Formats: sequence, C-alpha cells, structure tokens
Amino acid sequence: MMYVDFHLHCAPPDGVRGLVSSPARIAVPFFSIQRLPDAAAEDVLAAAAGLDVSGAAALGEVGLDRRLAVPMARQIELLEALLDRAGGDLPVVIHCVRAYPELNAVLKSRRNRILLHRFNGSPEEYRRQRDAGRLISQSPHELATRNFEDFVLESDAETDAFFDYAAFYLMAAERLGVEAELLAERMNRRFDEFIGVKK
Ligand SMILES: [Zn+2]
Repeated sequence: MMYVDFHLHCAPPDGVRGLVSSPARIAVPFFSIQRLPDAAAEDVLAAAAGLDVSGAAALGEVGLDRRLAVPMARQIELLEALLDRAGGDLPVVIHCVRAYPELNAVLKSRRNRILLHRFNGSPEEYRRQRDAGRLISQSPHELATRNFEDFVLESDAETDAFFDYAAFYLMAAERLGVEAELLAERMNRRFDEFIGVKK
C-alpha cells in the first residue's frame, strides 16, 4: 500500500508519495515552491519576481495569516502577485489563518486547483470551500479536533523524524467508515488529479 502525504516539509520516507513544500527547488519527485505570507513584510513585488516555478508541481504554501503583524492588504498583494506569476495551471497549496473572506475574494477569479492546508475553518466555511471544488487537507491535529466528511491527508512534518502513516490512515479510515487500503487508493487518485499526473 502506497501512502500519500499532501503536504510536508522534508523528503517523504519510502512507501509515501508526498508534496514537499520548500522555499527553493529540492530533489524530490514532487515539490511545491513556498512563499509564506511573512514575506509580505519585505518588498512584495521583488518577493514575487524572485519566484521560480520551474520544475515545481505546485505553488505553496502561500496564503494569508491574520496572526501576523504584516498588514492584510500587503499579504493580499503578495498572494495576488505570486498567483499571477505562477499562472492558472499550477495547483496551489494555501495556508489560511482567520482570513477566509479575503482568501475567497482573491481566489474567486482564479482557475487553479486549490488545496487548503490544515483547514480548520467553520463547518459553513468547509461547505463553501467544498462547493468551490477545493481540497480540504487535514493533519492528525485537525483530524482529532474536526469532523468533516471529505478531506485529504497531510503530515505537515518538518523533519524526517518518524511519522506513523499507518496509524494516521487507520484513524482517518475509521472516521470515514472505509478500509485503510481503499482510503490510500482514494488519496493516490486525488493526488494525481491535484498534481495533474497523467496516467
Ligand atoms: Zn506546512
């Protein structure tokens, strides 16, 4: 059984296909080029112009974070500039903390496939995002505290310390009332669809 990890920050272990989020290109099968909203504290246009998406399977994580001291208007400016630079074909991994109205306004006119990394919004926001066709991604933390009926799985692992994928998949499979094997197949299919892997 091949596990899938939709978002992590280090090379995945054997037996796991993962989308690795990194500020620069790295030697893994699937990497996502990351620009955190903190970068809006600096020159926004320069930060976007420096983005090199060549070889990247996705853009992200990028997004909006209400906890930061950086004004929301500047974060929005950076996000727009990064999305412009990446173009409409690249899937996007979004980091969003308490800024869904602003995020939805930004994404309204975009056609990129979207994954909401560690989504922890309200049930209403969940339905809005699902209706917009976006992927809701959950790490063990959200899985333990939320109860959505449709989601994809991520570890958000920062280091190559042991992460128990078997236990994680079992927990998610029990929640959904399916076999872990079936869940893994489903995750692989959705990963291919999100990344745009041709079969
Ligand atoms: Zn992350």
